[in-house]
Amino acid sequence: MSSDKQTRLAARGVTVALLIQKNGENAIASRIEFELYCPRPVKIMTIIAAADVGGTTIKLALVQDSVLLARAEIPAEAEAGLAPALERMVSAWRNLCNRSSIPFEQIGAFGISFPGIIDPRTERVWITPAGKFEDSRTIDLQHWAQNRLQRPIAVCNDAKAALAGEWRFGAARGASNAAMMTLGTGVGTAVIMNGAPLNGAHGLAGNAAGHVTIDLSGPQCLCGNIGCVESEGSSWAMRRQAEAHPGFAASCLATAHPLDYKALFAAARDGDALAIELRDRSLRAWAVGAANMINNFDPEILIIGGGVAVAADLILPCISSHIRKHAWAQWEVPVVAAQLGNDAGLLGIAHLAAERL
Ligand SMILES: [Zn+2]
Repeated sequence: MSSDKQTRLAARGVTVALLIQKNGENAIASRIEFELYCPRPVKIMTIIAAADVGGTTIKLALVQDSVLLARAEIPAEAEAGLAPALERMVSAWRNLCNRSSIPFEQIGAFGISFPGIIDPRTERVWITPAGKFEDSRTIDLQHWAQNRLQRPIAVCNDAKAALAGEWRFGAARGASNAAMMTLGTGVGTAVIMNGAPLNGAHGLAGNAAGHVTIDLSGPQCLCGNIGCVESEGSSWAMRRQAEAHPGFAASCLATAHPLDYKALFAAARDGDALAIELRDRSLRAWAVGAANMINNFDPEILIIGGGVAVAADLILPCISSHIRKHAWAQWEVPVVAAQLGNDAGLLGIAHLAAERL
């Protein structure tokens, strides 16, 4: 329960009265007033070993409730597959325990946030990023955890884990319905609906809002679809748009290394014509994608995360304004920046793992 909700509840007193009949009318014989009992939010004291697997690095941590007790980062070596990565993760967790003087046996559960589509019932991997962890579809992670770790494990898509973190500890605390877009290298999305992560039959629901077509004549996306939000507005798409533009050589973007959104927004602020054009193209794609999310999932709040936080002052009002004009919602949907940054995935997957205890 959020502290706001607690405050609201605590403000409501409860009166219990004993009524007696006196001359045919009710009269109060005794009355007791007391406040509703509002317990503090339940703290999860068990230590969870969490991993947030990315395409290039794996972030690891020992987590207790909302606190990262210790953290580390190892190379993903995704081309070598998930099986060797799992063994390196176990070694890294053991090292973290040694460093923190926490016996490995004290870990209550494990959690892995993974950049693919995860079956919500079996937690097996359905889809992986192209060329990365290609053996993961053949690995039964629950079976592996039982044999290798002898403790429960939660496995979850990375966007869902990040939203779970924001939902439990960050920008979406207290909401029963929340949506998140992570803008940057790609466009990752996830949804909490009616107080639970939205999954669908195979785990795809809510994850693919960045791969909805917004331009029928648009370019092919990495996912195979055409004119996706991501193939219009992501750092890989933006680089492709820049390099194909006749004005590229004359733009300061030609000398930006790396050519990412930080460089693009900085160049646009300095008045570079191509940077302004491409910035506005990405903003339109994100705003249209966000309005589609509102129409499809009806969240109370939309959280924007990812590397574009450098220009949140520009991006959030732009998305809000588009939603007001074009989404079906006749009410205000707050569009807010993510609060937990790179820790959202670790905190979220640790929270989901703690629920297994
Ligand atoms: Zn796509």
